Amino acid sequence: METVLITGASRGIGLELTRQFLQQGYQVIATYRNQPSDALSELATNQQLVLKELEVTDQSAIKALSAQLAGQTIDILINNAGTIGADDQSLEGIEASAWLDAFAINSIAPLMVTRALLSQIEQSENPRIITISSQMGSMQRDSVGMYAYRSSKAAVNKVVTVLANELKAKGVVACVVHPGWVKTDMGGENADITAQESATGLLALAQKLSLNDTGRFFTWQGDEHPW
Ligand code: NDP
Repeated sequence: METVLITGASRGIGLELTRQFLQQGYQVIATYRNQPSDALSELATNQQLVLKELEVTDQSAIKALSAQLAGQTIDILINNAGTIGADDQSLEGIEASAWLDAFAINSIAPLMVTRALLSQIEQSENPRIITISSQMGSMQRDSVGMYAYRSSKAAVNKVVTVLANELKAKGVVACVVHPGWVKTDMGGENADITAQESATGLLALAQKLSLNDTGRFFTWQGDEHPW
């Protein structure tokens, strides 16, 4: 049985990924900030679910989690925790402090979490690191505003391609995925797809990833996403 670790699992896509990986018989280590949500706590009646606290920008918390998981194999790491950043990300309104927060959570934390868990990931026979990015970080799309969010996702795309190059020789797959425009607190109710649909696609992708896929950018349906 494989083990998947999912960050930001209290709500939205992370919660739904947790539910679906459990349904498929995986062991899931789901991380939350502060307190697990009621919805996540309810899933913990499943013995295959382990809940761990993790603020992804807290370096000592990351270190502590890694120590708690010493000896544990992690087959799939899903760097899902993310923030849209400030409400006003217009040219006139964007504040440097909110922009730095978006980078801390969306761009830097995925690498810090991955690095801390690398010995657990490398124990897997089929190690995969999936970082949830966004089409809003793509250079191919015309866009206006949302400076912090867009640039933080563009940055994490580059981070993951560098990581993929570095880990390829060790047989570790690292890729980025656009999860779709999803009806969550972040995506809003007018979004295209439900968290269930997104998670189903992401899970199928996770199951079929091979070393040929490392360093690539995928859609939630498993197609190539333009950079
Ligand atoms: P939500 O806003 O619904 O949930 C975000 C999750 O990330 C929450 O569990 C939240 O925890 C957690 N989180 C945020 N900051 C931190 C932090 N510093 N430390 C730990 N956990 C944190 O977002 P979605 O589920 O919609 O998004 C999940 C991922 O998908 C994100 O990376 C997002 O950028 C990406 N995405 C989403 C799209 C969409 O349409 N929804 C489109 C493209 C990409 P808490 O509950 O404690 O706040």
